[in-house]
Amino acid sequence: MIVVVTKTSDEAVVEALTSLAGTQGVLENVVKRGDGCRVLSFRGGDSLVERFETCPEVSRVVVMTGPWGMIGKSGNEGTRAVSVGQVSFGGGQFPVIAGPCSVEGLEQLQSIAQSAKESGAVGLRGGAFKPRTSPYAFQGLGSTGLDYLATAGKNSGLMVVTEVMSPEEVPLVAQSADMLQVGSRNVQNFRLLEAIGRTQTPVLLKRGLMSTVDEFLGAAEYIFMRGNENIVLCERGIRSFEPRMRNTLDLAAVALLKQLTHLPVIVDPSHGTGLSELVGPMSKAAVAVGADGLMIEIHPRPELALSDGRQSLSLEEFGQLMKELAPIVQIMGRSLPGPMTSVAQA
Ligand code: PEP
Ligand code: MN
Repeated sequence: MIVVVTKTSDEAVVEALTSLAGTQGVLENVVKRGDGCRVLSFRGGDSLVERFETCPEVSRVVVMTGPWGMIGKSGNEGTRAVSVGQVSFGGGQFPVIAGPCSVEGLEQLQSIAQSAKESGAVGLRGGAFKPRTSPYAFQGLGSTGLDYLATAGKNSGLMVVTEVMSPEEVPLVAQSADMLQVGSRNVQNFRLLEAIGRTQTPVLLKRGLMSTVDEFLGAAEYIFMRGNENIVLCERGIRSFEPRMRNTLDLAAVALLKQLTHLPVIVDPSHGTGLSELVGPMSKAAVAVGADGLMIEIHPRPELALSDGRQSLSLEEFGQLMKELAPIVQIMGRSLPGPMTSVAQA
């Protein structure tokens, strides 16, 4: 059971609540959030839910059934809208984020951003800090890449999302980006999740390549319980026995996540398949399964990309895909928020 105690300087109140639950449960953890609220978690004590709910100092009581609780859907609760500047995930819009795997240069990034925007994208992606399998592979442009992203974002009007790999770099990345990406390899880097949880910067949390649905949701709960509720989940494929595709895009998990949590869920068909020719079909399937948006890798010359060229769409292919997606998005009761909307859906 989780009990959220409103901001109070009265330690006696917290102690009284703790000992009340202690009569029927075991206190496991106490976390003081950035906003001053205290989150107490107990094993057992569920019979006290109603008593806690009537306490004026208690703002929320959640009975947990797994490693997460606050991000769970109750009753027929819908999906929360998470805003990143003008862009809203989880509402009536269907935002599409596009950009290169890695930021490679300013001019190139600006022309990608311009083209993506004209095709209807509302967000620009691009890695400045790259978690690569080989230490000899391109590691990203680091803080120079962040500057390029900030410039390209400002000039194009697209919101910027980029990966942050360590807790120490959260403030630096948050200066240049509108949304922090937690990559697949860091989904259980708990110090990183805690650091992001103490900010209010929106976060795109990618499913780990080996995460179960509950592990993925547990990771999201780390961020949410610390007070940062601006979380968008991203299904990006999991490792399976199938070698033809880089990963197996788990679209059933998207449908399941939409039932389990009120957090918006988007899909990354690029990493999900590793093959550019599968990005279109899986993007369409993602819309149909109820995803709240897409993140797609694009590059002006995919064959020359410094990372993930094999799964990147050319700028023209991306434009064509956006046109094909528009009617499907509309059938699903959403709209593409970019400038293409009226043209594409006419
Ligand atoms: C990325 O988006 O460039 C990336 C590295 O993704 P993932 O963490 O899903 O592999
Ligand atoms: Mn990539």
